[in-house]
Amino acid sequence: MEFRKLSELELKDKKVLVRLDLNVPLDNGKITDDTRIQAALPTIRYLLEHTKKIALMSHLGRPDGEVMPEFSLEPIGERLAELLNLEVVFVKDYTSEPAEHVLNQLSKNQIILYENLRFHAGETKNDPTFARQLAQGFDCYVNDAFGTLHRAHASVVAAAEFFPANKRAAGLLVEREIEVLSGLQKKPTAPFTVIMGGSKVSDKISVVLNLMQSANYLLVGGAMAYTFLKYQGVEVGDSRVEHDKLDLVAAIYKNAEARKVQIILPEDHIAAEKFGKDAVPVELNTKSIPKGLMGLDIGRKTAKHYADIIALSKTVLWNGPMGVFEFDQFARGSLRVAEAMADCKGFTVIGGGDSVSAANKAGVADHIDHISTGGGASLEFLEGTMLPGVKVLLK
Ligand code: AMP
Repeated sequence: MEFRKLSELELKDKKVLVRLDLNVPLDNGKITDDTRIQAALPTIRYLLEHTKKIALMSHLGRPDGEVMPEFSLEPIGERLAELLNLEVVFVKDYTSEPAEHVLNQLSKNQIILYENLRFHAGETKNDPTFARQLAQGFDCYVNDAFGTLHRAHASVVAAAEFFPANKRAAGLLVEREIEVLSGLQKKPTAPFTVIMGGSKVSDKISVVLNLMQSANYLLVGGAMAYTFLKYQGVEVGDSRVEHDKLDLVAAIYKNAEARKVQIILPEDHIAAEKFGKDAVPVELNTKSIPKGLMGLDIGRKTAKHYADIIALSKTVLWNGPMGVFEFDQFARGSLRVAEAMADCKGFTVIGGGDSVSAANKAGVADHIDHISTGGGASLEFLEGTMLPGVKVLLK
């Protein structure tokens, strides 16, 4: 995929508009986790080394086109000023008058931050008038907000289109994401193991089918696994099964057979009588689950088997937890997979918010080669879809 990179932009003295993902969690106006701000710093620093005129923009939460003070980017501006040791000029109104005049008056140690893009209905509508207000006066456009590339929003698509193709580029985070995720679809080093979990087969079917082209093993966990087991004729008791999705599972098996992908399902389980924080775990040493019980995590034998396959793999992708990892008594399978990935000598990738949380919970996130920052965007990318925000960065 030939997209333009930051290093290919001629930046000297250029005015650069930058789309970032600064959508951090806030509690009463205080940032509770600044990971996304930290992640944006390399691109900001790169730009500041090459030019002094930059304006940053991002969304925060879902204010749905209304000005809601609790979703203001002002605290993010303060944090950025501290981290970069410069003055952040916070521009609240960039629609009645484009930020061009502020831009022209910027002194050496100042950068611009726009107020929340989603205070304007035009953002999610990809409105060209709003996009022009954002883009007016700039020479170049950089997008480093991977998590929003699957959305045709004004700051992602219409604003980018105001710039000539050779003046738009991916930021450093986006560059890495696209390279890693397209590498998994092209020629990953074999054996390539895909671990899929989470709640629904339907959410992941397109990803699984696309990755079948390059995968050797597909390990299935989470609630998804019970629909697979049901399809195989295994009794799964009260486990969550998507009865209307059995045909999708059939399609996966058909593809797997044609492409010689081994599908591996849980052979034992941690089950409970009900779903809940206080549910009492029952270890089931069998593939089947009796009536009155539901599977809420993969069992010990399965976790060991999955860990063994991960250990021999040269490339591993994990998306979706192996069980209801939010409750400690059903988290062990996901933690075991996270640990096995951390120990794996091959190239390891985790995509999707819940598996990332599991890796954090296991304390091994630092030992994973690539953690994808955008859940929805990485899934759509892995489905083989051309994301609208990537399309505008193509050469
Ligand atoms: P997803 O967003 O599709 O990746 O699904 C993540 C959710 O799936 C998490 O909230 C898990 O609690 C849930 N989940 C995982 N395993 C099970 C299971 N066996 N039964 C019900 N929910 C599950």
